[in-house]
Amino acid sequence: MIDQVDAGRTPEDDDPGGRIGEAVEYDLFAAEEEPSPEPPGLVAYHLAPTLRLLRDEIDRRWPHRDRASDGWIGDAAHQAGASDHNPDADDRSVNALDVDRDGIDPPLVIRKCIAHPSTQYVIFERTIWSRTRGFAPARYTGSNPHDKHLHVSVSHTPSAERSDRSWGIVTAPVPKLGDRVLRRGSRGSDVRELQTVAGRLGARLAVDGDFGAATEAWVRTFQQSRKLAVDGVVGPWTVAALRAATRPPAPEPAGRAPGSRTLRRGTDGDDVAFVQRFVGERRCGRATGAFDARTEAGVRWYQGMRGITVDGVVGPQTWRQMQVKVAY
Ligand SMILES: [Zn+2]
Repeated sequence: MIDQVDAGRTPEDDDPGGRIGEAVEYDLFAAEEEPSPEPPGLVAYHLAPTLRLLRDEIDRRWPHRDRASDGWIGDAAHQAGASDHNPDADDRSVNALDVDRDGIDPPLVIRKCIAHPSTQYVIFERTIWSRTRGFAPARYTGSNPHDKHLHVSVSHTPSAERSDRSWGIVTAPVPKLGDRVLRRGSRGSDVRELQTVAGRLGARLAVDGDFGAATEAWVRTFQQSRKLAVDGVVGPWTVAALRAATRPPAPEPAGRAPGSRTLRRGTDGDDVAFVQRFVGERRCGRATGAFDARTEAGVRWYQGMRGITVDGVVGPQTWRQMQVKVAY
């Protein structure tokens, strides 16, 4: 087998005039399974193993994803022109994979793809991340906007095509609200989280992970209500305000209600004050809420007077003696 490095295949290298991606993509067969073998005499084509691994990892992470816009092998129209969806000349590998955008986390997949040594370029939503440009995002002007699927091409070298290095999709952490600044056009699980939080605050936004006009308008309204800079951008201050607005109310400190815990020397609380009032100022002193030596002496007096165990501790037996319902 000839190991051919054909750097001329990437659309930007083919096209120094800058019409990046023009006529690179055509309609694809949606191919889930290996295609049936070609007639004898032709070498069967196959999806480059590294892309097969990528697809397997995506399927493992999102087993219920939509596959309608998946594809990899080009049709007859493709085969007339240059496309990574055509089997390449050396070993008939197909070096491009299309993954339906629905049911996956596209920003996560893009992040992992541009970190993988096999990747030549990624195209999604009129944006191309290409190795030849250090994976800096650039506008993609091809006729297919790639808004239904994400396209990944791998380099035409045997080591790239056959790499068994994991793409890291299965275990990649999902971005959480606050991990990055979100603004109009942001997409991802953190946008979904933002929209969910907004819903808890009364917004009626689609929870689609897509920071569009409605989400931006809501963010502005929220910022205004919190006296933040109104820019529609979710940075650290806005995240902090969102967290504060949705923080559940602090639970009542344990043991404030009479009968909800055992009281002894050193305990503080409204329930201690209750006992001090119940036993009386003459024995316990003022109802300070602090269970001190005088309180303990008062409790001992009360217990002795009532004929129950005299231990200076207000437990279930003492509570019941005080006609307090024991709830612990
Ligand atoms: Zn494609």
